[in-house]
Amino acid sequence: MIPFNRPFIVGKELFYIAQAVMSGKIAGDGIFTKRCHEFMEQQFGARKVLLTHSCTGALEMCAMLAEIHPGDEVIMPSFTFVSTANAFALRGARIRFVDIRPDTLNMDESKIEEAITERTKAVVPVHYAGVGCEMDTILDIAKRYNLLVIEDAAQGVNATYKGRYLGTIGQLGAYSFHETKNLISGEGGALLLNDESFVERAEIIREKGTNRSKFFRGEADRYTWVDIGSSYLPSEIVAAFLYAQLEEAEEITAHRQAVFNRYLEGFKGLAESGLAQLPSWPPECRHNAHLFYLILPTESVRDRLIGDLLGQGIHTVFHYVPLHTSPMGTAMGCADRALPVTESVSGRLVRLPCYFSLESEVQERVISLVTSILTR
Ligand SMILES: *Cc1c(COP(=O)(O)O)cnc(C)c1O
Repeated sequence: MIPFNRPFIVGKELFYIAQAVMSGKIAGDGIFTKRCHEFMEQQFGARKVLLTHSCTGALEMCAMLAEIHPGDEVIMPSFTFVSTANAFALRGARIRFVDIRPDTLNMDESKIEEAITERTKAVVPVHYAGVGCEMDTILDIAKRYNLLVIEDAAQGVNATYKGRYLGTIGQLGAYSFHETKNLISGEGGALLLNDESFVERAEIIREKGTNRSKFFRGEADRYTWVDIGSSYLPSEIVAAFLYAQLEEAEEITAHRQAVFNRYLEGFKGLAESGLAQLPSWPPECRHNAHLFYLILPTESVRDRLIGDLLGQGIHTVFHYVPLHTSPMGTAMGCADRALPVTESVSGRLVRLPCYFSLESEVQERVISLVTSILTR
């Protein structure tokens, strides 16, 4: 069986975990958490980074920092993972889903303005497949309407838009280190604070609503409850694992790009004969080869391909059930507006195995089987 994903272990994870354990401090915010923060601040250029237990947790923190209250509106694509919407729904927000672009499958920036109302508080671009959204346009709209830009960069670690790292462009950003992502710690995430004004409150929200961080820095004389919050920090064991991965970020990205490019090359013929649409990205974006997908002419072709490949021992998967038509999206009243590109693409997209340790012979087999199924 060729799996859809295989987590990549760089080799130093257990060594760093042993160091963390031996140091005697395995709760959060120890030496490895600090190293991860500094690495990401220096490498990616975020003003301040805070590790979280997941990207979901980081997005929940964003919704608190944005002071989302019941009835406020937040704009985002429907073609995304549930956490993008859940984080804001948990605070009582009304989600306004907009359609995606047919080329990058990112939120269509030309559809944002018509979704803005007096209650709109934030726009949440999701960088699908590690390809940057059209951020200059999004930032410009947000500025004109006084909205926050919160990047769901779960898939966008170590990818750039016009030379700037995804997650560091809006006021807030969120990364994921879930084992299905490029850099991993099992479960894991990070909150990126690109605007100094959020830093103090973010530390409090992450530490159960207490001023613990300030207290330990000697900046407060009491350690007490000062705001809402929850427990969002990971243990040092997770941070130690993650640090080993971060050190290899460039190599992991380059290696995945090689895998991605072999697919691109291998499916050129299918694309030229109109049998499949391949991933595309604008020249100002450097993507991180997070995933490789094909968009097929119809849903039945897609479903048949997934079934036939499974019969040959190759596991492939679709992406996503659009949130506006999901049971929860429907219950929230989001299914009233059609999002034609989202609905069309989600029925026709298939993701292929794309991971660091995918051997080239195995990949050749996937390419030739896909080609023969689609051309027969
Ligand atoms: C993976 C993912 C998430 C959730 O990440 P977790 O770390 O598993 O919480 C959120 N948004 C998008 C777009 C994702 O791909």
